Amino acid sequence: MRKINQIILHCSDSDYPQHDNVETIRQWHLERGWKDIGYHYVITKDGRIRWGRALELYGAHCIGQNKDSIGICLCGRKQFTQAQFKSLQVLILRLMDRYNLTKEDVYGHNHYNKLKSCPNFNVAEALKDI
Ligand SMILES: [Zn+2]
Repeated sequence: MRKINQIILHCSDSDYPQHDNVETIRQWHLERGWKDIGYHYVITKDGRIRWGRALELYGAHCIGQNKDSIGICLCGRKQFTQAQFKSLQVLILRLMDRYNLTKEDVYGHNHYNKLKSCPNFNVAEALKDI
């Protein structure tokens, strides 16, 4: 297993119900010529946590930060659900425990790319109950 130092949060940038699944996002990334979906996890609007790329492999989700990070994507653009935020907290707690991380190791994509609004929600607010 590679060394994990951080978790980076994303959104799918779509609120269309037909995009609320891991297969569609994988297809988008394959169409870009990538070998698989760029994220390690996808959380759909019903709060289900779906596997993306294997954790052992570098993701493709944040330029310059893929080597030591885990990428999590919430399906949505403006409309996220309480079920998603609940699952995000559960998942992050699990990963923090497994990889010896703290809340301060969790960033939004826009932390690294100021030109992006992704993940389109406030990370500190989303994690405040952890
Ligand atoms: Zn992003």
